[in-house]
Amino acid sequence: MDYELTETHKLIRDTARRIARERVQPRAAQIDEEGQYPEDIFAVFREAGLLGLTIPVEYGGAASFLALALAVEETAKYCCASGLILLLSALSTQSIVIGGSEEQRQAWLPRSAAGEIRGAFCLTEPNAGSDVAAIESRARRDGDEYVIDGEKMFISGGSVAHFVVTFVKTDPAAGSRGFSAFIVPTDSPGFSVARLDRKMGVTGVPTANLVFQDCRVPVANLIGEEGRGFRIAMLTMSTCRPVVGARGLGLAQGALAYALEFARERRTFGRPILEHQAIQFMLADMATQIEAARHLIYHACSLIDQGKYERQYAPYLSFAKVFATEMAVKVSSDALQILGAQGYMKDHPLERHYRDARQLMIVEGTSQVQRMIIARGLAEGDIVYG
Ligand SMILES: Cc1cc2nc3c(=O)[nH]c(=O)nc-3n(C[C@H](O)[C@H](O)[C@H](O)COP(=O)(O)OP(=O)(O)OC[C@H]3O[C@@H](n4cnc5c(N)ncnc54)[C@H](O)[C@@H]3O)c2cc1C
Repeated sequence: MDYELTETHKLIRDTARRIARERVQPRAAQIDEEGQYPEDIFAVFREAGLLGLTIPVEYGGAASFLALALAVEETAKYCCASGLILLLSALSTQSIVIGGSEEQRQAWLPRSAAGEIRGAFCLTEPNAGSDVAAIESRARRDGDEYVIDGEKMFISGGSVAHFVVTFVKTDPAAGSRGFSAFIVPTDSPGFSVARLDRKMGVTGVPTANLVFQDCRVPVANLIGEEGRGFRIAMLTMSTCRPVVGARGLGLAQGALAYALEFARERRTFGRPILEHQAIQFMLADMATQIEAARHLIYHACSLIDQGKYERQYAPYLSFAKVFATEMAVKVSSDALQILGAQGYMKDHPLERHYRDARQLMIVEGTSQVQRMIIARGLAEGDIVYG
């Protein structure tokens, strides 16, 4: 492990920790109940300068995935949806950082870092989730414009975004080499929000079905060149993956802390349940899993911050995602169990943590996809043991 927290990292973590306790925690249950995007929390993040953490410094950011992971971890201790708002600030801009021209970076990154605008990342379609190369959306050039047609599903924040980065085929016969990425302002003609999904958790960030119908954008909105989109999509997802893990890491800590306090107070058979060894061992296992996830995530993020996120590093980014997200599901379930019937009730945050955690194993590559990436790394010798 070769990561170290700098003074800047600690400052960002401490700022996020204070905001999470003072501003996010009191709103968390209400955000879940109402299922409305929390503009007030977005404004709090904007004022604290937390919306551009992965954007290069010259465009107003802090250029650090480790910093983002720390901020997300602190936030998700209380509210996984608010952690997603921070993550989306990276997911929506990372494609422009990776593949964008200087003009595109100047046009979109400083305003995103300042929280003047926000974006969404559009890859999934009705017939293409894990099998990304199966996307059917198309774009064709028409003079100085591209015309985009297609449908995107389950897009986090898609209905509250000012722009989306979307992936389509400009050369369908070329498979993944025919992918291209576009920046689409959401007031573009032909762009619409068709539907919002009703879902199990993370209700504060809407998940939208988006339609592009004869949607016209200037040629200047093509990110990089035609045919570069698949690589841009893969690198964007793999760099943001450990931060999905950080949402799980924070959530699990929030769940553990709550269950521990409950276990001190709740008495059965004449003593606090914390004095029963079965409960002690559950808590010990939860803490051990949390610490293991923390190391995987910080290590993965430090690799990204060193520019090590090309294909051969992908397994390390997947380790962090798959372990931390599955850990969050297990820990939140065990924490709920420690509360007994009360854990199942909405008077406590554990049923919310459990519902929210379940999303993490699906987004930005399911647990199965992460294992495919890790297995490929083993087969191709990117990870070597022995
Ligand atoms: C709340 C939420 C928010 C989301 N936000 C976004 C977003 O902002 N942007 C975006 O583009 N997408 C988003 N998604 C979509 C998400 O990325 C996809 O759901 C995910 O990639 C899986 O695709 P799928 O649902 O089509 O499942 P499928 O690909 O149809 O897979 C179905 C099942 O089969 C398994 N599977 C598939 N292929 C294999 C294989 N080869 N081997 C073994 N198992 C396999 C999968 O792991 C899964 O369990 C979001 C999803 C959710 C639930």
